[in-house]
Amino acid sequence: MRTYEVHPAGLTDIGHVRATNEDHLLAEGDLFVVADGMGGHGGGEIASRVAIETMREVFATDPSAEGLVRAVTEANRAVLARAAEESGNNRMGTTIAAVALVPVDGEQRLAVVNVGDSRVYLLRQGTMARLTSDHSLVADLVRAGTLTEDEAVSHPERHVLTQAVGVDPEIEPFATEATPESGDRVLLCSDGLFNELRQDEITEVLLTVADTDQAVGTLVAMAKERGGNDNITAVVVDIS
Ligand code: MG
Repeated sequence: MRTYEVHPAGLTDIGHVRATNEDHLLAEGDLFVVADGMGGHGGGEIASRVAIETMREVFATDPSAEGLVRAVTEANRAVLARAAEESGNNRMGTTIAAVALVPVDGEQRLAVVNVGDSRVYLLRQGTMARLTSDHSLVADLVRAGTLTEDEAVSHPERHVLTQAVGVDPEIEPFATEATPESGDRVLLCSDGLFNELRQDEITEVLLTVADTDQAVGTLVAMAKERGGNDNITAVVVDIS
């Protein structure tokens, strides 16, 4: 079996406007996660943290594509349970975007899953492709052809999600797989990044900044320069 190595770097920043950072990230072993929490009274920070802790535990017991999806559904249960314990936080929730290098039929594959509007992109041979599918009002409008991608980033209801982890007992995570190639660069990010920077600007950074730590640092710094209107999180994973 061809075995790939992963070289990750991650950075999260409160930005310039929000009072707290409700984003969390995980870059550990072959599992990479970005979570963007929401909810008053600290609920968003709790939701994204509980979701990521749960995903780490579940994936460790079942490091497979199915295990990654199950990690998200277990995270949903865990955040719902936590919300029920905290009377002031009963509306907490979080997005999840996750990538894992997993064995499938004797090959290594990239398993990808998301709930909400945090994203995973794949940069391969100079071309960026988005691997996730947003669960948001504006994404529905883009898919219906009534809104362009450019209009979506400035739409007043761009933060309205159609699915999140920890809100409803049933969720339908989007899941897909990709075959890795040496030289691939994977980006996971919260909306605080892609609402401030155009995709071609993100691509330019990923193409020109070779070091993964410098790449996430540059992306976050640029998003802050553009306003930093939300918490910003970026994880870059190089595959060799
Ligand atoms: Mg956000």
